[in-house]
Amino acid sequence: MSSIKPGETPSAPASARTARPQSPYFYRFKLGDADVSVVTDGPLELGDASSNFVGVSEEEVRRMLARHYLPTDDVVLEQNVPVVEIGGKTVLFETGMGEVKIFGPRTGQLQKSLRAAGIDPASVDAVVLSHAHIDHAGGVCAPDGTPLFPNAQIYISERDFIDWTDESRLSSPFGNQVEVARKNLLPVRDRLVFFKDGQEFLPGIQAIAAPGHTFGHHCFMVSSAGASFCFLGDLTHHHVLLMEKPLMEFAYDADPKQSAQTRTRLLGMLADQRIPVMSYHFAWPGFGNVGRDGDGFRYFPAPMQLDPL
Ligand SMILES: [Zn+2]
Repeated sequence: MSSIKPGETPSAPASARTARPQSPYFYRFKLGDADVSVVTDGPLELGDASSNFVGVSEEEVRRMLARHYLPTDDVVLEQNVPVVEIGGKTVLFETGMGEVKIFGPRTGQLQKSLRAAGIDPASVDAVVLSHAHIDHAGGVCAPDGTPLFPNAQIYISERDFIDWTDESRLSSPFGNQVEVARKNLLPVRDRLVFFKDGQEFLPGIQAIAAPGHTFGHHCFMVSSAGASFCFLGDLTHHHVLLMEKPLMEFAYDADPKQSAQTRTRLLGMLADQRIPVMSYHFAWPGFGNVGRDGDGFRYFPAPMQLDPL
């Protein structure tokens, strides 16, 4: 029998995963008069925490994860994609990794997950992107440039479109991000719509500038009949690390200091106003609330509602 030392965390080895089918990877709930279906592009495997979350000592990161019974060497982020039927439109937020497998073999499931949830990609009117990184814009087009949401307009900030399709940045450390953004966004150039901070650019959907992770990164307030949630995009990547210590930095931030300030300000607003959140990268399905806790925040996942319809 192996024993777990203090600071270590047990986790189920891959071999313990069942070979039988899991429950379907979609989840539905009501928001006022709107219907929300959360689907997935599958989990991102980031590996060791200390190579992704910086600005706090490795020891402290390990301690925080261990306290939540999470492994320190195998950080996994979900890709929770809400599809919101609102005001006569079907609106999908983020498109996942597409065919790119740099974060493990389990990504690229969005089209399959949509089918499992009974949603035809051709029925999607609007694809909304918080920013242009691979795990958000990677599934707009097939590798041959065919749009995967054939009837949708694509909504993104102009700043992110310009930054991440800039050919001169192909040789920068972010070159692979630029390459994927170009492959996904340039073929749909004539369907792009640029939103602005504060604008209600679709019925019940308002853009909120949240710069730092990228300079054009936005969150979105989704509201229907008096109910709301804020879709966080990449305002925060982890339900423990960037919440308990919101000034911690994430390796993929364009401006980590600005990102931390934006995170602290917006999470504070959401906590104070008790507005529910939907987080792209939190544990499935990523819906809950944020509260203030000491110098940081705490995420309170909402119980899933699995009542028979
Ligand atoms: Zn992301």
